Amino acid sequence: MIDLSEKINELPGLRETVGRHGLMAKKALGQNFLLDRNITDKIINTSLTKQKKPDFSGEYVIEVGPGPGGLTRSVLCRNPQKLTVVEMDERCIEIMQEIREKVGEDKLEIINGDALKQDFSKFEGTPKNIVSNLPYNISVPLLVSWLKQIENFDSLTLMFQKEVADRICAPTKCKDYGRISILSQLLCKIERLFDINPNCFVPAPKIWSTVVLFRPKPANIESKLLEKVEKLTTQAFSQRRKMIRQSLKSVKGLEEKCASLGLDLTLRAEEITPEQYLELAKLL
Ligand code: SAM
Repeated sequence: MIDLSEKINELPGLRETVGRHGLMAKKALGQNFLLDRNITDKIINTSLTKQKKPDFSGEYVIEVGPGPGGLTRSVLCRNPQKLTVVEMDERCIEIMQEIREKVGEDKLEIINGDALKQDFSKFEGTPKNIVSNLPYNISVPLLVSWLKQIENFDSLTLMFQKEVADRICAPTKCKDYGRISILSQLLCKIERLFDINPNCFVPAPKIWSTVVLFRPKPANIESKLLEKVEKLTTQAFSQRRKMIRQSLKSVKGLEEKCASLGLDLTLRAEEITPEQYLELAKLL
């Protein structure tokens, strides 16, 4: 096996690369760059350790929004079968091309496009792992689209604004608990890896970030059933403070269905667990 880390370490430093390409961050593209390899290595190493994988050997990795390539370098140093990057900013594509010249075309595939428009299920290889310091403005739509096709992935290692991570990881009865917590927790085992100080980014955002690892649960939920769960949770959380007797009153036979599951009609949306929403959806 070729060790890519030697080749990566021959590249000019990240800050030098950013300077040479005049890569000023664009707010509209959610650009806050990580230029410290200690941090990008920590993201990848912590995720691999949690997954009990020594590295990415034999695995396919997709990175959304590689930017100047800090996280890209950290992934390549852990020897994936292939890394595919999807980036909208053409200035970053030039940087990716320089990395590809070092590591070879078979190791780095570059897609210049919008991640929201990609069909990730068609990307080469299994198992697929996604790694991303997500553009904050599209982080939730991207996560939802990956969760809905979670059978295609082995892991998602994603960085969010801390308040979004709080919502994803929130337990029942917590103020942050909501639709994204339910969808994420039903489909995946979720681990909060660590928080990152705003000063680690260039430019520094106003808020902290958090890295979260998602691993698919073994039993996949059929898409029709998932749609029912989504419909239920949309209804329940649109009147979050109301009892489900009120918020779910349009559900036919609500009283009997809830009784068969031991669910009290005086419960509120945030008091119902993801598994209970799933069981209720099965009766619809
Ligand atoms: N991974 C880099 C890092 O950690 O330094 C950059 C992360 S920055 C938060 C988000 C990146 O996503 C930027 O490079 C931006 O150009 C890219 N991006 C923004 N919107 C995108 C989209 N719709 N599709 C693909 N890439 C996008």
